[in-house]
Amino acid sequence: MSSLETMRRAVIVGPRQVEIQEAPLPALAPDDVLVRVRHSALCTFEQRAYSGADTRFYPLLGGHEMAGVVEAIGAQVLNVQVGDKVAIWAIDRCGSCYSCRRGQACDNVWFKRAGAEKTKGPTGPAGLATHKLAKEYQVFKLAPDTDLLEASLTEPLACVLRSVNQADVKAGDTVVVVGGGVMGLLHTMLARGRGAQVIVSEPHAQRRQDSARFGAQHAIDPINENFVERVKAFTNGRGADVVIVATSAVPALQSAFGAVCKGGRVMVYARMEPKGATISVDPNLFHDSEIVLSGTISTSPEEFQQAAEIVSTHALDLRSIISVTYPLDEIQPAFEASMDLGTYRVVVNT
Ligand SMILES: [Zn+2]
Ligand SMILES: [Zn+2]
Repeated sequence: MSSLETMRRAVIVGPRQVEIQEAPLPALAPDDVLVRVRHSALCTFEQRAYSGADTRFYPLLGGHEMAGVVEAIGAQVLNVQVGDKVAIWAIDRCGSCYSCRRGQACDNVWFKRAGAEKTKGPTGPAGLATHKLAKEYQVFKLAPDTDLLEASLTEPLACVLRSVNQADVKAGDTVVVVGGGVMGLLHTMLARGRGAQVIVSEPHAQRRQDSARFGAQHAIDPINENFVERVKAFTNGRGADVVIVATSAVPALQSAFGAVCKGGRVMVYARMEPKGATISVDPNLFHDSEIVLSGTISTSPEEFQQAAEIVSTHALDLRSIISVTYPLDEIQPAFEASMDLGTYRVVVNT
């Protein structure tokens, strides 16, 4: 049993400083599931901690997009067995607060619940590791023939599903996805899968070109083209049914209001930067044109389950979004690669 007693994990200790540490395997509570993580994807949250853009959580156990195989279960676990392939919802909801019970984002975000300010040891979603201890409710079973590399994207897919659900993307709609990064491409694939026409707006030439592979019918260069005029040109002058803002650029959100049709929906998917930035909109646009402005953060258990089904049945080719993989020992080059605009998801094989 000695090999079961320690695990290896990546700890972000400071800007551009990440270490691989050995740690004891935690003891299993009756409702715990111990997962042997196989793949862990590097998301913006981890990239910002690594680059030094977000210094709040050092030492951080990053990694919230992961898939693996169940290695051990607590005595009360009923829904998964040793050997099952699973995805884990690491940045979850507490389930007990008022907002959780209303189906909204949790009032007690993970770092509040982890007592990050008080504990001495590293804390975080902890998926960049050989093992991840999760509660049974955080573990989502996948089909036995699921591609676990693809399954590492279950969490981002679940977040994008929530966005597409809230924006009410329907067959025959025209959906403009602003931002051709990983989240923009997941929106593109899901909207296309629902029978919508998709237009991607993206300043980076290669990303703009790539968007066609993921299902976009048209691409707009928002720097050298007039965004609103181009959207109108693709929609018989009416404007798009849905504009999803999957970039943190505030001007992109501002211009979305000129590009939606009557009854159209503007979805703020990304966190806008800088913090405190504002937009200005004629309020009569909402009255006269019945436009809906909405936003979304994270996901719900229902949508995580939906994403797990999509991954299990390979309904989308998520593999095409993974640009490159690195072993856990090469975590530093993996992070460097993840910040290159030429890559989409970078995944660490643990
Ligand atoms: Zn993520
Ligand atoms: Zn909660």
